[in-house]
Amino acid sequence: MLVHICCSVDSHYFLEELRREFSNEKLIGFFYDPNIHPYGEYLLRLQDVKRSCEILNIDLIEGIYNYEAWLDKVRGLEDEPEKGERCTACFDDRLNETVQKAIELDEKSFTTSLLISPLKSQEKLKKIGNDLAQKHNLNFIFRDYRSGKGAEKQNQAVKINKLYRQDYCGCIFALSKQRESQNKLIDETFSPITNQILPSSIEEKLIFYKNIDSSKIIIKESFLNYRLLSGKVSINNITVPSRIIFYSHSERNNISGKIDYLIDEVAYLNRENIKIISLQKLNVAFK
Ligand code: SF4
Repeated sequence: MLVHICCSVDSHYFLEELRREFSNEKLIGFFYDPNIHPYGEYLLRLQDVKRSCEILNIDLIEGIYNYEAWLDKVRGLEDEPEKGERCTACFDDRLNETVQKAIELDEKSFTTSLLISPLKSQEKLKKIGNDLAQKHNLNFIFRDYRSGKGAEKQNQAVKINKLYRQDYCGCIFALSKQRESQNKLIDETFSPITNQILPSSIEEKLIFYKNIDSSKIIIKESFLNYRLLSGKVSINNITVPSRIIFYSHSERNNISGKIDYLIDEVAYLNRENIKIISLQKLNVAFK
């Protein structure tokens, strides 16, 4: 059976259940998700699906990341809400490609882990899957593994295996709408020109989840999205001993300024709200 996979959070438990129910069937995973934007996020979800399939000992095939072709397929539907017509076109594309791959591999049955996702319409997926199955003389395996205690068991599998839980469906259109409603910047699309890996960025998560295993514990902490990790202070081109205080931040690489005010051993620069504090003052403050 060819199993289309959208992400590890949805596929891990879904594959476990399929294997339990179809114990005589060899399952093959198929990661085909050109809807995911940006490409780094696509790589992150793929990496975690690979890890999940390795844990489950299930072969995985990666489809083509034809993002521009996917954009053509949803053209005119960009403003549709989630679960609307854009999602129908997106399901059409992903299930159609799954069917083509199943035919290529001579597999007679196919299904999709999208069926377990709480934000997806099972009815829509069922109709698209059944229509494609009828057209190509295949079997579409419709299963509702999320009802009953399914969602709870799925969450347990996610926790036990430390799977990467994304917080948006995948495409740029849903992401933009979500961040707009949250009044947040779309920092998933930020790429520092210095190639610096920012805390909690997709690039950092790629490294983090590459090295994760079930023996580790994940603890989330809140912090500023952008912070200065290192820096130096020069006066008249001569570098002076200094420390950059934790949570300092700056939007530029170099800032030149003059001291506007000197109050109680704190120098206030005329640029970017920078303060220079004497070590003596800092030691007293942090005592
Ligand atoms: S919201 Fe999700 S399912 Fe809908 S079009 Fe975007 S990526 Fe596809």
